[in-house]
Amino acid sequence: MVASRYFRKEEFKNATSSCSLQDMKQDFMLMLDKTREMANIPFQITSAYRTIEHEKKQGRSGNSAHTEGCAVDIKAIDGRTKWLIINSAIKCGFNRIGFAKGFIHLDSSKKLDQNVIWEY
Ligand SMILES: [Zn+2]
Repeated sequence: MVASRYFRKEEFKNATSSCSLQDMKQDFMLMLDKTREMANIPFQITSAYRTIEHEKKQGRSGNSAHTEGCAVDIKAIDGRTKWLIINSAIKCGFNRIGFAKGFIHLDSSKKLDQNVIWEY
């Protein structure tokens, strides 16, 4: 049973695409909880687990960390929010960070390239 201190199951249900907290890896959720605690601001999850089928329908490769259950996108509009998320994510051990106009992607995939920050 996957548990989280800060993130409720409804947040995963309302994500794009809709998923469950149980689709996520526990070690990832522990890192995310730690990051959320350190940042000390609310994290609004916009995307979490996604099926390979969903990814392919969107024209994507299907090898995203989202399909491993170890990735989230967190809404981040302003620069201060982005800084708080990224600063605490790095301190909590995240080494794969995606930087987009409206969100920050964090994942803990070990299969994909390590120590990277990318833009969308
Ligand atoms: Zn993402």
